[in-house]
Amino acid sequence: MSASISSARVRQRRIAAAKGSDHTRRAAVKILRTPAAMSRQAGRWLRAGKKIVLVPTMGALHAGHLALMDRARRAVGPRGVVVVSIFVNPLQFGPREDLSRYPRPLARDLRGCREHAADAVFLPSAETMYAPDRSVQIDETQLSATLCGRSRPGHFGGVCTVVAKLFNLVRPTAAVFGMKDFQQLAIIRRLVRDLDFPLTLIAHPTVREADGLALSSRNAYLDPAQRAQAPALRRALLAAATLARGASERNAGTLRQRMLETLAAEAPLARVDYAEVVDAETLQSLERVGGADGRAALLALAVFFGSTRLIDNELLTPTDSRAAATRRAAENASRVCYLNEADL
Ligand code: AMP
Repeated sequence: MSASISSARVRQRRIAAAKGSDHTRRAAVKILRTPAAMSRQAGRWLRAGKKIVLVPTMGALHAGHLALMDRARRAVGPRGVVVVSIFVNPLQFGPREDLSRYPRPLARDLRGCREHAADAVFLPSAETMYAPDRSVQIDETQLSATLCGRSRPGHFGGVCTVVAKLFNLVRPTAAVFGMKDFQQLAIIRRLVRDLDFPLTLIAHPTVREADGLALSSRNAYLDPAQRAQAPALRRALLAAATLARGASERNAGTLRQRMLETLAAEAPLARVDYAEVVDAETLQSLERVGGADGRAALLALAVFFGSTRLIDNELLTPTDSRAAATRRAAENASRVCYLNEADL
């Protein structure tokens, strides 16, 4: 081994150790630009007995995405393979949405993937992903009708289609998704269950700015006044959650009202798209939360600042131990792992 290679390896090990990563034998990140190349490479890894964990993204990576990569590495271990996909999926953008202005800082994204020990980045073009005469699409018909689905018709069909393609091409043992996009996670859980994808979903908690604002590539569109008011989403959710947890308020209407009052007081620039209290699995509206059935409820908000739409949510899990055990059993049965309990 030449001196320069060995000193580069020592440096990489130091960087990895400093980041708390156990993945110290870093080679360069492989970049796979076509579905065919991705599929061939996945086949090679699987034949070599490696497990693959997938982190699907649209790029413009921030600390939330990077945390998902770290979670993937913890799940698959130092010898496994972490694949990050970066693909701004045209199918999930509506005609009046921000497809063309969606940020694409590729060099910075690749640096983030490298620094967070990804083994490969799948970077297809829309042309290689979708045949011009494509005619098959996956639609989820229940959960997509609520929350964000109401104001973004077709969005979750686009998400399901691309995620199913990614699962087929990458063939992961597990895939990591953020709980910030809770509806997306719930829908992909159905996709996995209903179409028998043989993988585990790992749900990662929302990563936030110090003031509570959930990290999102769309935060960059906020002007200073909007940015100053945006943490009110989090405060509105926490105000309602405190009412439910601390004061045992069960009435969903009261919780909803608390969210709206907080937003009206603290974010006058915001236009509320929805403020909902729903069942965390079915996403249907609830009249009451915290029943003895062990089901979790979700407080969910979507708010416009100008044309920028921000979302956030807070999960209300049952506190009594029998109800919590029922919930864990249901999660295990559906092979979704919330927080850090995945054991591949
Ligand atoms: P996107 O690139 O926005 O489509 O997101 C890719 C993945 O990152 C999805 O699973 C998101 O839920 C997740 N994600 C986005 N923002 C955050 C965040 N602030 N914290 C945790 N995960 C996030």
